[in-house]
Formats: sequence, C-alpha cells, structure tokens
Amino acid sequence: MADTFHRVTGTLWLHPGRKAILKAARIICAGGLVAFPTETVYGLGAAAVNPAAVAGIFAVKGRPADNPLIVHVADQSQVDRITSSVPEKARYLMEKFWPGPLSLVLPRSSAVPDQVSAGLSTVAVRMPDHPVALQLIDAAGVPIAAPSANRSGRPSPTCARHVLSDLAGRIDAVLDGGFCRVGLESTVLDLTGPHPVILRPGGVTREILSSALGEPVLRSFWNGVAAPPSPGMKYRHYSPMAPLILATGPRIRRLRFLDNLAAFYRNRGIKVCLLNQAFDKGRVEGEQDLAKRLYRELRRCDDEHVGIILAEGVSIRGIGAAVMNRLGKAAVRVIRV
Ligand code: AMP
Ligand code: MG
Repeated sequence: MADTFHRVTGTLWLHPGRKAILKAARIICAGGLVAFPTETVYGLGAAAVNPAAVAGIFAVKGRPADNPLIVHVADQSQVDRITSSVPEKARYLMEKFWPGPLSLVLPRSSAVPDQVSAGLSTVAVRMPDHPVALQLIDAAGVPIAAPSANRSGRPSPTCARHVLSDLAGRIDAVLDGGFCRVGLESTVLDLTGPHPVILRPGGVTREILSSALGEPVLRSFWNGVAAPPSPGMKYRHYSPMAPLILATGPRIRRLRFLDNLAAFYRNRGIKVCLLNQAFDKGRVEGEQDLAKRLYRELRRCDDEHVGIILAEGVSIRGIGAAVMNRLGKAAVRVIRV
C-alpha cells in the first residue's frame, strides 16, 4: 500500500508502508501515542518504558489508573527486558502461540514503570500476530504498552474508523491496517501461581491451552467482593450506547423469548437490533465469525441509533467463552429463560 496519510482533526491517519511505520515509530520514541492494528483489536500504543507517555494512554482513554496495560513485544529480548523471570511453561507457550492472541502475566522487571502494571508486581506481555504491529515495535526499538484504542467502556475498535470515532484529535496517529482478523481481545493467562489461570478468555481458548500444557487450566472469576484477580474484571466494558439484554438458556426458549421481547419494543416504536440470530451454533466457523463481528455490530447499533439490543447467548465452548464474557460485560441485564 502506498505511504499516504491525511489528518483527521489533528490525528494522522496513516496507510502503513515503510515510511509511515517509521514515522509512527518516531512518534512513539518521542513519547507520543499511536493506534495500530493487531490481529485481535486496534491497540493504543506508547513506549512502555516512558512513564509520561504511558500516563497519556490513561488520560486519553479515560482509563482507571488501577487497570494495567499489556506490553507488546516483537522479540524474545524484549520479554527478558520487562520480566524478572520467565518460567519454562511460559517459554513453551511463547514458542507455540506467539505471535498470537495470548498475553502472559509474568513477574515484572524494574524496566516497567508502575503506571504500566498499575503497581502490581507482574506484567502482561504478548507478541501480536500482525505485520504492521511487529514492524512498528521493531522500528521503535522499545516494547509498546497498548490497551484497546477506544474510550474506556466503549466496544473495542476493530478498524481505524472505530479508533477515530472515539479518539480523533486526542492521539497523534493511527495506522490503518483494515479490519482485525480475530476481533476480540487476547486471552490473559496468569503464570505466576502454581496453576495456569485464565484471567480473561480470548483468542486462544482454554481447551487449546490445557491440551498444549497437558494440565488443567483454571478460569478465574471475580466474586464482586474481594480484590479481583485481574483489575479489568471489575469494570463494565465493551458497551454500546443502547442497553443490551442478553438471553441464555435452551435455544428454542431463548429465541421465543427474544422474539416476544423484540415485538414488545417495536410496538412501542423502539428500534430493536437482534444480535446473533443468524449464526448456526453447531459450527465453529460460526462462533469465530461471531467473535470477529461482535464489536463491529455493537458499534453499528450506535451508528444506526438503535434503541435496544437483544442478544442471544452462545455456548461457552472454545471462542464462545470469550464472546459470552464480552456480551455479559456489555449487558445491562442477563436473563436465563
Ligand atoms: P485491554 O488492554 O484494555 O484489553 O486490557 C488488558 C487486560 O489485561 C485488563 O483486563 C487487565 O486487567 C489485564 N491485565 C493487564 N496486566 C495485568 C496483570 N499484570 N495482572 C493481571 N491482569 C492484567
Ligand atoms: Mg480494552
């Protein structure tokens, strides 16, 4: 693609070629903020070793300071720079799943500023599976801290237009790599305890991880009272503007329930969006496609001024666990029928 750019209310919109990536890398090195594509969602990047730049991420997103960031790396030496020890299990998973949608929580080194890990003694690290992301980190020569490139609480962006609709004028640049392949955030796996624990389900599923490790992989939930195992768990996330109601339970019952609910709202002149109905739940491609399209659909509901979103629950097998996690967090109400 040609090295072209234009400016959207102060933010450079870059079409990634060699020159554009070098320009973005220079912005990162100078302490600026650049949104970039990854295979999961778009990230909002800053040099992970620059506390002021990292503070900028929290400010423009409106992100609570106690919610740590994932650090993105392009090679093994960057992992060694930001961690204090890397267990065998972690090396094995990096070998097998990187680059890819798997973030590993490891003990952090003193090179990581407190802001990145919100004062925790650990740091989450991953290598994204996207050529633009890898070239950017490589050109910058530093690991890049990057949460999703949306205003806090909004659905994550899966294309450059979504990034700009939340952050135009607030960030220095966005590298436009088209739509993201996975469409949901990475799996966050904690490797600092006796057993591997999934803190957030994502692109690499629990089934795949336990079969790779040959041991059970636990899934962590927050009881809403004690300190959450991962700070992100306590925040409502991924929310479209319209309220979202999620229906779970046997398929026939939930479809009938949602149809009745849709009729109820339509009769009152409220614009309804029925999410998920088109998918055949028996097919894995269906669920992966659903994951890929979820945030795009939620943002489309905003654009079309939908009044209420009615979503059908899916099976929590495979990538379905990540889809249900995000739908549950987006929902104002979850109803089991
Ligand atoms: P985001 O980058 O917006 O997709 O969010 C990153 C997620 O990873 C949040 O849910 C964080 O709470 C979680 N996370 C990042 N670093 C750590 C860490 N060191 N320990 C536990 N969870 C983390
Ligand atoms: Mg996020």
